[in-house]
Amino acid sequence: MSTPALRILSLGAGVQSTTCLLLAAEGHLPRLDYAIFSDTGWEPKTVYSHLDRIEREIAKPAGIPILRVSSGNIRTDALDPHHRFASMPLHIRNPDGNAGLTRRQCTSEYKLKPIKRQVRELLGFPHPMPVPRSVFVEQWIGISVDEIHRAKASGINYMRSVHPLLDLGYTRADCQRLLRARGFGDTPKSSCLGCPYHGNHQWRALRDDSPDEWLDVVEFDAAIRAGNARANAEGKPLLGEAYLHRSLLPLSIAPIDRVTSHEWRARQGDVFDAVADAELESGDADGCSPWACRSGSPIREDFGEAA
Ligand code: SF4
Repeated sequence: MSTPALRILSLGAGVQSTTCLLLAAEGHLPRLDYAIFSDTGWEPKTVYSHLDRIEREIAKPAGIPILRVSSGNIRTDALDPHHRFASMPLHIRNPDGNAGLTRRQCTSEYKLKPIKRQVRELLGFPHPMPVPRSVFVEQWIGISVDEIHRAKASGINYMRSVHPLLDLGYTRADCQRLLRARGFGDTPKSSCLGCPYHGNHQWRALRDDSPDEWLDVVEFDAAIRAGNARANAEGKPLLGEAYLHRSLLPLSIAPIDRVTSHEWRARQGDVFDAVADAELESGDADGCSPWACRSGSPIREDFGEAA
């Protein structure tokens, strides 16, 4: 088996990837060369401040550079008639009244693409140079055993996925326990502020705990009712109406105070497993990570070679 040129962590800055960073920094996992955070430009303030903190308190002392990469700002691009927009999974009311969901391209465009670009540069083969088959990075993905179904090969020759938490047998609760013990019990979920996959708990948390961010998503929701700006400017309007909330109602009046069955299950779990406390406090286990989007169904986009 050939040796990886570099060992990198795909850092979503959520529970699992923060755990990987911590374990590497403490020497329980092999040394990392880099951690790469892919920024959609529209993460909650809590994620950016958590990222700053883990960089300051975990990564830097351990000599692990955190590289922040980006393909742009997903919110700005959606509303810019001059910018190509990689679609978010918007909830759609079709002209016949039926509900639908637009195809998700955002994870590939805003999360995977900048990571691939950065890795190629680190390897010395920026796009469109071919990367020799023998040259590759070992890429850590933070997937815990309770979400093993999300683990898959990257499909990219020069990025070979490794799942340290699966090898260690760590559950999400194990990760949270470790993070709490190290003073990082408030590790947030990483996902775009206005991700249409949010559950009611996440929308409520935004409304109740972060009024300015709530206002931001309510405004965005109203602004995308007719779809993304570029498509409209090109004379290809959305046939139907787009919404961030699955009820197909404006976010400002959507029934986000309704406790979903998913939430009830989490509360029941809390009765029997004290470890679930943090899970309950932080909402359901959603979160969008570059290679293992926890929002909705697993990523189905093409992982193949694109710039
Ligand atoms: S969090 Fe949601 S909107 Fe953002 S990249 Fe992931 S799936 Fe797309």
